[in-house]
Amino acid sequence: MADKALNRSGQSLDQSLHDHLWGYRDTRFRLNERGVVELTGHRYDMSGTEMPLFWPFVQDILGHEIDPTDLKSPNAAPVVPEPRPCPEFRRAVETVLAKDRVSDNAKVRLNHSHGQTSNWELYQVIYENLERVADLVVWPESTEEAKQLIQLAGQHGVCLVPYGGGTNVSNALLLSPAETRPIVSVDMSRMNRVLSIDETNQTACVQAGITGSELERALRAEGWIVGHEPDSMELSTLGGWISTNASGMKKNRYGNIEQIVEKVTLISPRGEITHHDSAPRRSAGIQPRDLVFGSEGNLGLITEAVVNIHRIPEETRYASYVFPDFPRGVDFMLRLQRSGVVPASVRLVDNLQFRFSQALKPEATGLKAVEQTIQRTALEKLYRFDLRNISAATVVMEGSRSEVSHQARHIKSLAKSFRGVAGGSENGKRGYMLTYAIAYIRDFLAPYYISGETYETSTTWDNIHNVVDSVKQAALDLHAKHNLYGNPFISARITQVYHSGVCIYFTHGFSNRGLENPLEVFIDIEHGIREAILAADGSISHHHGVGKLRQRYLDRVMTSTSRSMLRELKHSADPDNVFGIGNGAFG
Ligand SMILES: Cc1cc2nc3c(=O)[nH]c(=O)nc-3n(C[C@H](O)[C@H](O)[C@H](O)COP(=O)(O)OP(=O)(O)OC[C@H]3O[C@@H](n4cnc5c(N)ncnc54)[C@H](O)[C@@H]3O)c2cc1C
Repeated sequence: MADKALNRSGQSLDQSLHDHLWGYRDTRFRLNERGVVELTGHRYDMSGTEMPLFWPFVQDILGHEIDPTDLKSPNAAPVVPEPRPCPEFRRAVETVLAKDRVSDNAKVRLNHSHGQTSNWELYQVIYENLERVADLVVWPESTEEAKQLIQLAGQHGVCLVPYGGGTNVSNALLLSPAETRPIVSVDMSRMNRVLSIDETNQTACVQAGITGSELERALRAEGWIVGHEPDSMELSTLGGWISTNASGMKKNRYGNIEQIVEKVTLISPRGEITHHDSAPRRSAGIQPRDLVFGSEGNLGLITEAVVNIHRIPEETRYASYVFPDFPRGVDFMLRLQRSGVVPASVRLVDNLQFRFSQALKPEATGLKAVEQTIQRTALEKLYRFDLRNISAATVVMEGSRSEVSHQARHIKSLAKSFRGVAGGSENGKRGYMLTYAIAYIRDFLAPYYISGETYETSTTWDNIHNVVDSVKQAALDLHAKHNLYGNPFISARITQVYHSGVCIYFTHGFSNRGLENPLEVFIDIEHGIREAILAADGSISHHHGVGKLRQRYLDRVMTSTSRSMLRELKHSADPDNVFGIGNGAFG
């Protein structure tokens, strides 16, 4: 199959999406007339349902009442600085790109000047103002156009910033006020074609601006999948995944992005960075390809990649297990990893995260209510679990029917040996799918003066509890330090398992009511938590990347020689710093 084009309109913004907040306009959590939380729209399994436990849960955990009528007002008239003029560049660009693929509209420019870092850029864009905004936005459609664009930027002294889905959570798209050149955001969304499928070698050549949902839709229509499913897959793009070193929920079966991508093309101001052959592995010295992973917009435009594809699995089966406590759940995860029979996805939530997901359940009625009461009673009376201690694992198994059946039997018996009690496939599926709706909760709670942020890290198996305990303690200490209302919400999940360790994902919520200088406090909290992670020997990031948010810690994880080598490599590919976004080692 060749050239599977997907429809995207010209320069206008995608009207189905929120301007700055997460996700689709048809979907949002809201308190309805009866004071009950509901999710609007029809997009997700939980859309259209009421969640009567959620509002009381939030107040209970945060330890204070929330007045539903007292809402923080967003900045109704954001100030968007006038664009810095670049008339010659613009004239030249309009000979390459059709006029409707070049825009200096203020709203369009603002939308292209931030990612999704909650307590920093998103807070600024909603409640304050961004200091620096892109001056122009352009939409290339092909590698050839991208090359010409880069050449023109070099000639006219313009700074280019690649824009994928704008979903990064590392301030990677935050623009520096110190950048005096005109900044041009290069929106890759029109480069969203599956160019070809190689059925024999099971690969597809794909343009880098394709989103995860577009990619899966296009491939599924032909009987294939990639299987890369980051929680942001509806909006994040192939180019974004490569440049941030992304990780998908089903990495155990399909790999992280660096295993999925066989070949990648990046256009730098000095030319193409790629390799010519299509072999699955090569011993050809240091691979320039590897520099593209994690390049965070610093080196050039990723225009296309060859990715591994797989036949749509015969079966996808979900399961869930409840464990008496988090340590028992961790022991189960380790044994599962060691057993070698690891399902596509297995994730473990701590007690608070478990209760959070329970609070998002619709009200059970009739038989369902009876069933839930029996389950709860059985856990407490029969299995002697303390509901304030239990943890839960959700499992996704994918493959042939026999493979899935084998995994299911194995996981069930292993869970049992750690006192795991089966929670059913419905709960497993719910836990997996919940992840797509959860992103909207941050934006629901923000107007009630509740800040939400996530932190992720990786660490070795023997250090999990140290990292988790350190972060939880840091959240408490920071809460006290800044004299915040009530209590913090701080939960932990293990979202990925590896031979030698895991990825740990934290969700942090706290009240920002009464703060005179919220942004300063958020920044201090962000740094306090990251300090705690690093001091406990967690990594700087498992998959969110460095961007500008974690830049200040790079010296602690990278020698100055490594950093200067990277800078010199960048200089050789981009001597005039056309790609001057200044992320990671290049800030
Ligand atoms: C709700 C939510 C859930 C998330 N879940 C996950 C998850 O499960 N796993 C995970 O790994 N991450 C996750 N993330 C983070 C984010 O989705 C990833 O970092 C993603 O890879 C960013 O892709 P993007 O297309 O949105 O890139 P953008 O945010 O647009 O850009 C990120 C960086 O990449 C550069 N870039 C983008 N496209 C190109 C290109 N074509 N060429 C060169 N540079 C480019 C940009 O300049 C920027 O520096 C999540 C984020 C949110 C908000």
